[in-house]
Amino acid sequence: MAVEYQCTIKKPVSVEGMGLHTGQKGTMTFHPAAEGHGVKFRRIDKQDQPVIPANIEHVVDTSRGTTIGINGTRVYTIEHVLAALTGMGIDNVLIDLDMDEIPIRDGSSRYFVEAIEHAGIEQQNVEREYITVDKELVLENAEKGFRLCIVPADDFVVDVKIDYGTSVLNVQEAHLGSLDDFKTEISPCRTFVFLHELEFLLQNNLIKGGDLSNAIVFVNRKVSQDELDRLATLFNKPKVKVKDEGILNNLELHFWNEPARHKLLDVVGDLSLLGKRIKGHVSAFKPGHYANTEFAKLILQHKKLK
Ligand SMILES: [Zn+2]
Repeated sequence: MAVEYQCTIKKPVSVEGMGLHTGQKGTMTFHPAAEGHGVKFRRIDKQDQPVIPANIEHVVDTSRGTTIGINGTRVYTIEHVLAALTGMGIDNVLIDLDMDEIPIRDGSSRYFVEAIEHAGIEQQNVEREYITVDKELVLENAEKGFRLCIVPADDFVVDVKIDYGTSVLNVQEAHLGSLDDFKTEISPCRTFVFLHELEFLLQNNLIKGGDLSNAIVFVNRKVSQDELDRLATLFNKPKVKVKDEGILNNLELHFWNEPARHKLLDVVGDLSLLGKRIKGHVSAFKPGHYANTEFAKLILQHKKLK
């Protein structure tokens, strides 16, 4: 296989937006970085501007997105931008951020991919390093119902299967045969929630940047016109209704299996916390941020033992 070199971006580029969970508005700016730098976040709104490397050992929370932190300074919801960097082949970048959370934009990786393309990609002078496995590794949790495994392969291949056991979102699969396909097949795929989760999140003030344009909303129970009217008010929309495929009418699906593809996007983003490209075939059943980051730790542990 041809030698591959590390890459950065040609010039700084910014993405503005709102954090989904915090509701804060702010700007993130990608800066070129030297070989071996990796991906790091810098909180430019804090005194001393702390820098947090996007590494698995800095993960501090996985409850609603993947959060990294050092000494009390955190960056929330890093998975979609990390997936975009991996998918676009960017190894080294410094990301300045003036708030707690990465902008959610439309809930996908698309806007980050576009920003990277706008900046341009610069090949550097040091070869890429890879994480490989020499046998199958499995992480399984019967209680939570997930199973992730990796087997040796020459490329990075990811398969995802989800099963929410409801008529509106039953079994779905997604496949990524090569990171070359990430941009077209995976990066536009948006996050999703179930209506009952959304109401809980809204009532408990856990979702503030949501305006019905940054998540697919699945409706898995009967819902009254009263409730829909209330949602319309909350989201500042004239009218909210449930479409035939069981989703709210806030948006159109990009792919019939967009939820499974989004879960694959999250797997790519979370596993990038290993800090190096993976060569291996990952199969994930019911993945999530906890499962993905624990799986990354297992891969890292195995690598250390090798
Ligand atoms: Zn996600």
